[in-house]
Amino acid sequence: MAEYKRPENEAEFSDNFKLKKPLMNPTQAYYESSRCLYCYDAPCMNVCPTSIDIPLFIKQINTGNVEGAAKTIYDSNWLGNACATVCPTGVLCEGSCVYNKRDVPPLQIGRLQNFATRKLIDSGKKIYEPGKDNGKKVAIIGAGPAGIACACELRLLGYTVDMFESKEKPSGLIVYGIAPYKITNKEALDEVAYLENQLGFSIKFNSQIKTKEELKELERDYDAIFLGLGLGSTAYRNIPGEEKDGVLGGVEFVEDLRMNHHKTLVGNKVVVLGGGNTAMDVASECARMGAEKVTLVYRGDRKKMKAYDFEYDLAISSGVKGIFDASPLEIIGDEKVKGVKFKRNNGEEFIIPSDMVIKATGQAKQKDFYDMIDDLDLDSDSTIKVEQTTNQTTNKKYFAGGDAINGGAEVVNAAYDGKIAAKGIHKWLNK
Ligand code: SF4
Repeated sequence: MAEYKRPENEAEFSDNFKLKKPLMNPTQAYYESSRCLYCYDAPCMNVCPTSIDIPLFIKQINTGNVEGAAKTIYDSNWLGNACATVCPTGVLCEGSCVYNKRDVPPLQIGRLQNFATRKLIDSGKKIYEPGKDNGKKVAIIGAGPAGIACACELRLLGYTVDMFESKEKPSGLIVYGIAPYKITNKEALDEVAYLENQLGFSIKFNSQIKTKEELKELERDYDAIFLGLGLGSTAYRNIPGEEKDGVLGGVEFVEDLRMNHHKTLVGNKVVVLGGGNTAMDVASECARMGAEKVTLVYRGDRKKMKAYDFEYDLAISSGVKGIFDASPLEIIGDEKVKGVKFKRNNGEEFIIPSDMVIKATGQAKQKDFYDMIDDLDLDSDSTIKVEQTTNQTTNKKYFAGGDAINGGAEVVNAAYDGKIAAKGIHKWLNK
């Protein structure tokens, strides 16, 4: 029996996908910020990939300087608002807060960060301006978090920046690949619009770079190129029956849900394959879309799953059932999927009846695209090799960041990479 009613309109969809971390009001932000001990050598700050000065921005909130708090955040992280809501704060800043050692709930750092940045974005007040035009141009391929962070930093340094985005909206996974109960489309797009409005980078949408000739043209027209393509579509897994009607890829499903909300088609008996955070998101989402039964099946032991514990717990609390140590043998049915046959690690075989199967078993890398770039070295997993202090690739004109170099990490890692690459580009073009 489904725990959620199938949403039939936008209001019911919003109800089923209520934000996990709602915006604080000023009183809540004041009281929460009052709890901070402003630790010396603050552990919360040390684990943040972008090293936001957390005690400083919390103090600024507490003393009524909310705009200053937002500036402290953006000075370190150009995706300060998105990261406030989509970061796994429980294993990063909040997970390191000293209060955890005293058995007291940690500071709600993510919600405080959201409070400050949201207030600034809503005000529309500009706090940055582009640097003096230095006459140089940089092309950015991919307007995801790494590309946007790189663009903002380059604009501060006076570069002209053109971004080439294959989709019709910016933000990459923040808009297309993250569960709607973590961030709304509006919140993600508002942040990019706010940054674009004051820093003036240009984004060319529906502009996928597909050919070597197009790349050569960019190489001719621009002084440097940043690769922030992210990952590709769901990888093919060679499971017999994978092509049947009703079998989908995890990232494609999440994208459909983010764009079409309650209109997204979800089966009644859904099997989700995988053990990463995308699998957890997909399973939770199917449950919230009113599927009668959602079964998450992972081939290994629960402890070996890549997903964070809190993501698994969220899926279970949404009504998902987890099965471990079972690998898919075959997707059965005629043209349309009717079930999945599994084999347990002890050899036992069983079938889960299903009218929808979602493979959240990893995304393909963009190897074919990278192969078009001369002298671009890749690692054995087809991620791009970079020099770590500058994110410069083995083709000196190209820099890279985000999932293209780490194979799939957090938005905050991509935001950091983009900034490092911008500084690397600046150093290289001014040596
Ligand atoms: Fe404040 Fe906790 Fe960070 Fe200490 S560790 S500065 S108490 S948020």
